[in-house]
Amino acid sequence: MLKQRTLRNAIKAKGIGLHTGKTLNMELLPSEPDSGIHFIRTDIDENIKIPALVEYVGDTSLSTALMLDDIKISTIEHLLSAIAGLGIDNCTIKVDGPEIPIMDGSSSPFVFLIQSAGLSEQDQIKKFIKVTKEITVERGDAVATIKPFNGFKVSFKVDFDHPVHKQLPSESIIDFSSTSFVKEVCRARTFGSFSEKEILQAKNLALGASESNAIVFGENEIMNKEGLRFNDEIVKHKMLDAIGDLYLLGHNLIGEFSGYKSGHALNNELLKKIISEEAFEIVQFENMQNAPISYTRPPFGDA
Ligand SMILES: [Zn+2]
Repeated sequence: MLKQRTLRNAIKAKGIGLHTGKTLNMELLPSEPDSGIHFIRTDIDENIKIPALVEYVGDTSLSTALMLDDIKISTIEHLLSAIAGLGIDNCTIKVDGPEIPIMDGSSSPFVFLIQSAGLSEQDQIKKFIKVTKEITVERGDAVATIKPFNGFKVSFKVDFDHPVHKQLPSESIIDFSSTSFVKEVCRARTFGSFSEKEILQAKNLALGASESNAIVFGENEIMNKEGLRFNDEIVKHKMLDAIGDLYLLGHNLIGEFSGYKSGHALNNELLKKIISEEAFEIVQFENMQNAPISYTRPPFGDA
């Protein structure tokens, strides 16, 4: 049977918060079968666990933030994307401040951490969210759609009115039956323009933003000396964000997501509609052979 997965060991990391600019200490810990993903703010109350589920999403303006009463944790999506991409069902994340460290702006450092901690299979059977009907949400000209597909597939198209973006690929499709999150997605960094950064910093936001944790666009060029990690890094990052957001349904998804200019807010609207329209069923696989290949591949690749 296809079993649930958690971390083998606990592991700690330290990093800068994108918005506060402060150093944060984070710890990822194994957790019980069927417990899901939870966040704990150790600086407020060690006993309050905030579930990584769509009903706890409090703010989607600049990142995806979870909220329980007045306890908030922001910038969870890159970590959650790594957790989803590695098929981790149960994990507790402790952090001593209001956001998850931005690390290098991608999911790659989280993948590395989790790889160092190791993964462990649990005795309980893994559950999936299987999409049973097509759902679309729109906001302005942005669109996000989910539809039935026997595997996991993500496509995304961006359209930025910026001279640098115009020279880069605007579209990508990934079918996870033939490649992996680690290989194709996890290294894609977040991005922003120099002028956006100045506007945000005037509002006391993005205080930790720099070329070490984002792709930064100048007027006509990319400011990062090392350039892009791959040619379609921008669109791949949007896919990375969507994979993290989709995991707020609570389980890995069997279905196809496509986004056009979609962001955290619209992705969350899509999740709410999937739930309100009951466009899914929970499935599990007693026989591994019946499970989609996307979910039976080794999480860190074949090497
Ligand atoms: Zn992002």
